[in-house]
Amino acid sequence: MKDRQSTSNPFFYLNYELALESLDNDFFDRVQPANFSQLTLRFRNDKLLPILGLDSATVTDRHFLDFCGRFRGGQSCLALRYHGHQFGQYNPYLGDGRGFLYGQVRGIDGKLYDFGTKGSGQTPHSQSRDGRLTLKGGVREVLAAEALHYSGVKTSRCLSLIETEAFTRDGETVRGSVMVRFSRSHLRFGTFERLDYYDRPDLIQKLLDHGIQYYYPHLWQQQDCYIRFYAELVKRIAQLVAQWMAVGFCHGVLNTDNMSITGESFDYGPYAFIDTYNPYFTAAAFDRQGRYSYRNQPSICRWNLEMLQRPLSAVIPVSEMEAILETFPQLYTQYYHQQMLHKLGFERLSFLETEELIDLTLQLLFLTKVGYDQFFRELRQRFSLQWCEDADYILHDLEFLVSGEEVVILKRWCWLYHQLLLERSLRELEDIAQRLQQANPTLVLLKPQIESVWKSIAEADNWQPFVKLLEQLRFNNSG
Ligand code: AMP
Ligand code: MG
Repeated sequence: MKDRQSTSNPFFYLNYELALESLDNDFFDRVQPANFSQLTLRFRNDKLLPILGLDSATVTDRHFLDFCGRFRGGQSCLALRYHGHQFGQYNPYLGDGRGFLYGQVRGIDGKLYDFGTKGSGQTPHSQSRDGRLTLKGGVREVLAAEALHYSGVKTSRCLSLIETEAFTRDGETVRGSVMVRFSRSHLRFGTFERLDYYDRPDLIQKLLDHGIQYYYPHLWQQQDCYIRFYAELVKRIAQLVAQWMAVGFCHGVLNTDNMSITGESFDYGPYAFIDTYNPYFTAAAFDRQGRYSYRNQPSICRWNLEMLQRPLSAVIPVSEMEAILETFPQLYTQYYHQQMLHKLGFERLSFLETEELIDLTLQLLFLTKVGYDQFFRELRQRFSLQWCEDADYILHDLEFLVSGEEVVILKRWCWLYHQLLLERSLRELEDIAQRLQQANPTLVLLKPQIESVWKSIAEADNWQPFVKLLEQLRFNNSG
């Protein structure tokens, strides 16, 4: 309270709500944040301030440091309890081990948002781990969230990244950081799984009611609101994973504790955007079996939704959830097709045309190994009205694609694309050009870019490339 009275820090006066805190002590542990001896603000996400009703001109770096690094402002620090399936195995030793929920705030859009920390010290869930976040890990999460957001993916963002003192991990000194994540919710599939593990149907009911009231308010008190919640979650997840697949994102660690009940994407550790179309690509080096490979993401998300049925069965009949989940493959395909059609310039084609075009595009990308983003960027940049006159005009100057047998598949692709453009009006062709601009970014966050940004920071403490990359990601889809 003293902090509130003695300062004009605008973060202290937001529209806070004690949503989870007022629910039950069983969902969290109250913790103390680490007391860092050194704090340097490395990233402040001014783009998020308007949602909070704040004007960036009135929020100083000092305000960020006090609120997001010293955790002043009177908010409770709640390390959330959860379990989860990790790599297919149930793990009851999870929970916020290096973060906590640091306030829930009503945005000016009327939605409730969480501030959640990462790297803010040990908690009862740390399992003797250090509770810290490396600076590189923080930089990577900031970049992933912004890249996904500006590609149209529903994702958590980072409000701030603050460098803290270095620490020792595995015998090495590493630069440290603490991050504040801004997301719709930190309730995970694993939050429900834990309640089932302790056989608490009463708390499952309570948490489900809470989740629907806050994150699915249009369903609350409707008839069949519980099954409708599950159906909408299935839809949201199908849409999310379709978006990841279309933008070429591999999350890397799709455990049930990394799945939000709002259907929002979050927690970016060993993620990667694919450089070429390789369905077997895995982002995490420790994922030796390739469980979370790029191509497995839809089926893993489906499996995670199936695991959620167990706790939810305390409230919703399993047979009803099973019937809903059966629609997941069609829903996913529908969303994926929609995303890919946009990337290829079309709003709608017949189902057969859609399948043929997407299959052939993926074959082309797989066989030629042309960059996944590069192909769509070339399409975006080179598309011309002439393409509907003659198939030979299409991508005719792309030497990088044409060698040996690859010529054959490229010719087939050009022929098919030409067929789809035939007899289109000028207006329709202009729409295609516009859609190609909107759906295909000029820049994708590939590993070399991240590594080069990190090298400048690590070797010369030069943050300019990081700032520049963030700017580029923001202007990505604006044509
Ligand atoms: P993640 O792989 O980041 O989703 O984390 C899986 C679990 O490990 C969660 O319970 C985390 O809180 C915990 N965890 C990850 N890294 C650390 C760390 N450095 N210190 C304490 N707990 C951690
Ligand atoms: Mg996690």
